[in-house]
Amino acid sequence: MRIALFGDIHANLEALDAVLADAKKQDVTDYVCMGDVVGYNADPSACLEKVRAMNCPTVKGNHDEDTAGTHSLESMNPVAAAALEWTRLQLNAEQRQWLSRLRMVRQVSDFTVVHSTLDQPSHWNYVTNRFDAMSNFSYQFTQICFHGHTHVPRVYIKSDRVQEVFSESIVIEDGAKYFINAGSVGQPRDGDWRACYAIYDLDHKQVVFRRIEYDIETTQRKILAAGLPPMLAERIAEGR
Ligand code: ZN
Repeated sequence: MRIALFGDIHANLEALDAVLADAKKQDVTDYVCMGDVVGYNADPSACLEKVRAMNCPTVKGNHDEDTAGTHSLESMNPVAAAALEWTRLQLNAEQRQWLSRLRMVRQVSDFTVVHSTLDQPSHWNYVTNRFDAMSNFSYQFTQICFHGHTHVPRVYIKSDRVQEVFSESIVIEDGAKYFINAGSVGQPRDGDWRACYAIYDLDHKQVVFRRIEYDIETTQRKILAAGLPPMLAERIAEGR
């Protein structure tokens, strides 16, 4: 069994298509989505329909929740709020309902999936260092939990202490717990513009991170044509 973990797609259809094509080539057998299907980029409806048609376990992200809701976005940063206002108008009631019904946490096979953290999933806290990861581990009852939200691929390992590591490929060792950020498909923020996702090979107990080039010029053109903040087109090229 080879499972693709993909999330933080953020309405970037070109990146999503490139990731799914690569996963197919990598003999992936199953798919799990870590949320934030929409928000920021210009193809929320197409990305939502694609993920929905895959019928794979999907957890809710903060942008999915904010898009599905009708509350004011005033407290949010202006660029994200402008994109969310626009995104709300692109989706029909049924699509917004699909987003609102996504669950915060799912258990799949022998692992857990959450968008942000397991200790308070609806608070959307960011795990950016090993101290943030510690509180998550108190609520993690499977050996592995995959998450997203920061858009930065990372691995937190808890054995006698918690450490933060990153390498393209990691082997899951007995006796340790793993809180793994599989990175972002549609808006990476680790300085690398290429779409990011992870493959968990259950038979070999191995997680491999993949970076995939995609047609970013088309994505940028669509962002500008939609009247979304131009900064959103710039940041995807810089991976920030
Ligand atoms: Zn996100």
